[in-house]
Amino acid sequence: STISRLFSEKSRPLRSLEFFPPKEELDVLALKKTASELVKIAADFASVTYGAGGGTRQRTAEVSQLLRGELGCPIMPHLTCVGHSREELHALADEIHASGFRNIMTLRGDLPKSAVQSGTGQKPLEDDAPRYASDLVALLKARHSDFCLGVAAYPEKHPQAASLESDIAHLKAKIDAGADFAVTQLFFDNAVYFRFVEKCRAAGISVPIVPGIMPALSLAQVRRFTAMCEVVLPEKLAAQLAAAGEDNPDEVAHIGTQWTIAQVRELLASGAPGYHLYTLNRARSAVELCAALAEA
Ligand code: FAD
Repeated sequence: STISRLFSEKSRPLRSLEFFPPKEELDVLALKKTASELVKIAADFASVTYGAGGGTRQRTAEVSQLLRGELGCPIMPHLTCVGHSREELHALADEIHASGFRNIMTLRGDLPKSAVQSGTGQKPLEDDAPRYASDLVALLKARHSDFCLGVAAYPEKHPQAASLESDIAHLKAKIDAGADFAVTQLFFDNAVYFRFVEKCRAAGISVPIVPGIMPALSLAQVRRFTAMCEVVLPEKLAAQLAAAGEDNPDEVAHIGTQWTIAQVRELLASGAPGYHLYTLNRARSAVELCAALAEA
């Protein structure tokens, strides 16, 4: 089933999970176990990230197949265009389509530092190679019109965008090119999401904008992620995590989970179309969270 159809047919918010393809074979086995624990969440769909430049090409495909088997819900592999030629992207699109996947998270991507250093993925860009996610959306739709495409949205703006307004205009270009829904960058303050959705609607974007949510697992981790993505870490959350101390992982995890539960409850109560959980491939926090939310 396509995810856009799920959004229009289900009369309740959708719950989705994001995974990354592990580097090591052993960790793929661990992920299989994680997935088997996550079956009980009964996610509506799950997605698998793609290493920009093509570094995880095989693994993303492998893990997508594995999760389809384990979770039994639609799987959405991610695809980034950076470092790929048109020809490679056509081949990737055909591969994904032939494997039976109809949903793709469509991104530009950043080249990982290692790829830049080693020179892989740094081929000179062909003139007609897609530059932005909107170009990739157009390429994929032209190749297979039955693809359902998700794109990224940034409530606190993309770090490289000149302004939130120009970034929203670029999001609109992705939707106009054929994208079906958007998933946001992580955020910890719901006010930024609500303001963002309002601005998107005013700009003529009418597709579902799914909040992307990451439970804080430690103060160090959450500081790293918020700095990297340039999103605000609310002082209250930072203070709670700091008070728990670094040597009390259970308490820290509890605080992170409680924050996310409160966040998601408010989002859903305010009409968010669902929530997309950045699982970081960890079963425990995801299961805990979804169990608590199901009871709400
Ligand atoms: P775009 O939408 O192309 O935007 C990139 C920048 O260019 C923005 O600043 C935008 O404002 C600007 N821009 C867009 N169009 C134009 C134009 N025509 N002219 C001038 N400027 C323009 N990365 C991965 O490598 N793998 C993943 O699997 C992955 N999954 C992600 C999932 C989600 C939900 C999110 C939010 C991000 C994900 N990322 C992933 C990160 C993403 O690749 C980076 O944030 C990347 O820098 C931007 O990708 P994008 O698709 O948003 O790019």
